[in-house]
Amino acid sequence: MTANIEKAEAVRTETLDPADWEGVRAAAHRIVDNAIDYTRDVRERPLWQDMPPEVRARFRSPVPQEGRPLGQVYDDLVTNMLPYPMGNIHPRFWMWYMGTSNFTGALGDFLAAVLGSNLGGGDHAAAEIDKQVVNWLKEMMGYPASASGTLVSGGSMANLIALIVARNRMSGIDLRDLGVGALKAPLRFYGSDQIHSCHQIAVEAMGLGNRALCRVASNAACRMDVAALRAAIARDKAEDLQPACVIATAGTVNTGAIDDLEAIADVCAAEGLWFHVDGCIGALLAIAPEGGALVRGIARADSIALDPHKWLHAPFEVGCALVRDAESHFGSFTLTPEYLKTAPRGIASGEWLHDFGLQTSRGFRALKVWMAIEEHGVAKFGRLIDQDLAHARYLAERISATPDLHICFPTAINIVCFRYDPGGLPEPVLKALNTEIMVKMQETGVAAVSDTTVHGRHCLRAAINNHRTTRADLDILIDEVARLGATLTGQIVLDCP
Ligand SMILES: *Cc1c(COP(=O)(O)O)cnc(C)c1O
Repeated sequence: MTANIEKAEAVRTETLDPADWEGVRAAAHRIVDNAIDYTRDVRERPLWQDMPPEVRARFRSPVPQEGRPLGQVYDDLVTNMLPYPMGNIHPRFWMWYMGTSNFTGALGDFLAAVLGSNLGGGDHAAAEIDKQVVNWLKEMMGYPASASGTLVSGGSMANLIALIVARNRMSGIDLRDLGVGALKAPLRFYGSDQIHSCHQIAVEAMGLGNRALCRVASNAACRMDVAALRAAIARDKAEDLQPACVIATAGTVNTGAIDDLEAIADVCAAEGLWFHVDGCIGALLAIAPEGGALVRGIARADSIALDPHKWLHAPFEVGCALVRDAESHFGSFTLTPEYLKTAPRGIASGEWLHDFGLQTSRGFRALKVWMAIEEHGVAKFGRLIDQDLAHARYLAERISATPDLHICFPTAINIVCFRYDPGGLPEPVLKALNTEIMVKMQETGVAAVSDTTVHGRHCLRAAINNHRTTRADLDILIDEVARLGATLTGQIVLDCP
């Protein structure tokens, strides 16, 4: 006995806690102070810059066996990471469709990590906050309190969660037990030809295969052709396929088009189909005083996928799946092994939040959303969405008024599709010219737009989902595209065969 105690005391215990808390305090204060300056001064720096070889090399070294002081670790990042961001917190970043983050959200992520909470479940304050954020998002969408939801990594996962519920519910069998092999007829999902790629991944992952996703033609405004949807459903029924779910997009990734939610809801009601809305871009329009009308009918959906890391500017990652019928949602994922039994009292007495999705351990991604909404109020987020819509209208007007710049598709929300076209150039040359303009602007760190091809036409695309953008930033974009277009035209024509 005595010998055992002596032996135990001889074993040196280690911990990740610092030996010198005051040293950590100094380093942490420096990190936070720099982070405030970094965010405040974002406009003064280039949006993006290429990494020199020595920076890339630094991140290709093998795992360090021994450590070094936190201050040194941070200095390394000051040199090698902070100057080389993706650029999406910059006021002139309009690529793809991202959010712009916010400092309060960053503090939220920090505090969440300090608590280290696991939102798989349990009875603790973080779990209440997680549930409250889901309830707020339900409220923002006009969903009833009885609806269900879960915070996930982003829109792709939110769509997958909702489509799994739709598949299980519409299958007419105990799909969880029997699997897709037992389906009486192949299930059919419908979306427009503008649907986001995550839906193909979803139907593939659900074991239904890519062909289960019928791409319905979009019209000139890039919205789903509802007559074509009805025809596709009728054709499938005649061929003994089983129509299951229509995926309407509220804000397509190419042009921001919003499918006719009311009309699609009517089709789903008439046909007895699940009505899902991919609202990763546009669902949050529902909170905007002006923009709200664009998504009228969204609350009729059986499920909605939305993305707080887009139009609420939460730091990545946070998405949300909402399901009107809580029973169907829970029923698709609940599974409680012995080691996860809830207790009548104590830490394990809370609801299992992992029963609403695919993860067991879940991060505390709710806090960054909760803190920013508490600080600013949801009305301000609504106004910021309207501000982006106004920016997009302004940009579209400026483009129309500028020689050699042309709008390619109607601007439905905050995505502006345009191109430089001085006239008389064939399509491949125009594409090469516009691509070069885009890349040059990125390389010089002036502005970031992306490009896409819609209905066979290549264009540049500015997605103004950015609470830091001002009209002056959009003026810089116009000037730069026009200037680069004029200088590059001759060059590109010569280079192109
Ligand atoms: C961004 C987006 C997604 C995917 O969301 P992630 O958060 O990137 O996973 C899905 N659908 C649409 C329409 C989107 O814009």
